[in-house]
Amino acid sequence: MSDGLSFDEGPERRALRAAVADLGQKYGQRYFLEQARTGGDTNQLWAEAGKLGFLGVNLPEEYGGGGGGLGELALVLEELGAAGCPLLMMIVSPAICGTILARFGTDEQKTRWLPGLADGSITMAFAITEPDAGSNSHNISTVARRPADLDGKGGTGGGNGTGGGGQGWRLSGRKIWISGVDVADAILVVAKLADGPRGTLRPALFVVPTDSAGVEAQPIPTEIVSPERQSTVFFDDVVLADDALVGHPDAGIAQLFAGLNPERVMAAAYALGVSRLAMAKASEYARTRTVWSTPIGAHQGLAHPLAACQVEIELAALMIQKAAWLIDQGQDEAAGAAANTAKYAAAEAAVRTVDQAIQTHGGNGLSQEYGVGALLAMSRVSRIAPVSREMILSFIAQHRLKLPRSY
Ligand SMILES: Cc1cc2nc3c(=O)[nH]c(=O)nc-3n(C[C@H](O)[C@H](O)[C@H](O)COP(=O)(O)OP(=O)(O)OC[C@H]3O[C@@H](n4cnc5c(N)ncnc54)[C@H](O)[C@@H]3O)c2cc1C
Repeated sequence: MSDGLSFDEGPERRALRAAVADLGQKYGQRYFLEQARTGGDTNQLWAEAGKLGFLGVNLPEEYGGGGGGLGELALVLEELGAAGCPLLMMIVSPAICGTILARFGTDEQKTRWLPGLADGSITMAFAITEPDAGSNSHNISTVARRPADLDGKGGTGGGNGTGGGGQGWRLSGRKIWISGVDVADAILVVAKLADGPRGTLRPALFVVPTDSAGVEAQPIPTEIVSPERQSTVFFDDVVLADDALVGHPDAGIAQLFAGLNPERVMAAAYALGVSRLAMAKASEYARTRTVWSTPIGAHQGLAHPLAACQVEIELAALMIQKAAWLIDQGQDEAAGAAANTAKYAAAEAAVRTVDQAIQTHGGNGLSQEYGVGALLAMSRVSRIAPVSREMILSFIAQHRLKLPRSY
């Protein structure tokens, strides 16, 4: 008897989990931290994960993907994180960029980009955040124009700036906190279209090769212990071909959200992996470290906070599965609230679990040897990016509780 509701992942997902966990263990946290501390990168792990089909598990089979869904991709990131190798770029390249291109790209765009995204030979960054707009993405000022509009001739396509086929585009603006530009082949950029004579702006998505003239990236020094870096990116009158525009310019918002919900679920999976790693380290340490002639885990002062974190971890895992399922069912509207809820739950679990894991380790929590303190900034990232705790709570307050908005 089946009512359509199952909490059994099934043999395929279990096998995928086991295979990804094997790969994660092969590299492990030591590899990840050593790369971070020596200025290295995760290219080797990325390439192997791609070759094994893990990076493209959500992408269409006809373009070299695994034909699965976001549920599978989230599971891959969770398992790699639990093994100490949380690949932030999985949130961006196959999840946001892959999803948007698979859903809205032209045949040419899909053929050009998806096979490489699927096997990991192409990495694509995603750029929406701007220094002056911050959380308020409606305020972005990166702009794409038709060259004729720049010449002041305007009127290239009925005054809406989207005509002018064959002219290409010119992109200008500045993005901040863009992950992985240093290793990426291209960036999916959220810009606004200049509206020709009327000068109004609309959001639209462009694939910009990182080697284009006028693209410059400057690394942002951070306190995050990870080989994956963030950059400020400048677009100085970058010349783009016509087909750099993804999908339809009038559907920019819908296309964007088709990528942002997966982004939230993947950010949650990232946080879940970090939480599981921290919990594994903490519980192992609490079982074995003995002072006052008993293992420290016997003291409820340590055991209860760890148990409470475990509850949070399991609840976050459930919510991630629900949100990914809704996305995979194409239920975009319901997926919005679920993806935000999953992201919130997983980030809070990560922050509290890492904090408690450090406390459990005493002084060793801050040593490099145990690899727990290294998770601190990483866990805090989950509360801030890609959407902050406060913006999620505002979303839930407005959309689920129908409360008025203050901003
Ligand atoms: C490691 C890392 C990787 C990232 N990777 C990418 C990437 O690849 N691509 C990309 O485009 N961006 C990326 N980001 C950017 C990230 O999405 C932003 O940092 C995030 O959306 C918050 O924006 P902000 O930093 O401008 O903060 P702000 O918008 O300046 O907010 C600052 C604080 O004010 C709070 N706040 C703002 N508005 C309100 C409100 N109305 N009510 C209550 N509180 C409010 C926020 O919650 C936050 O706590 C990354 C960030 C980090 C840290």
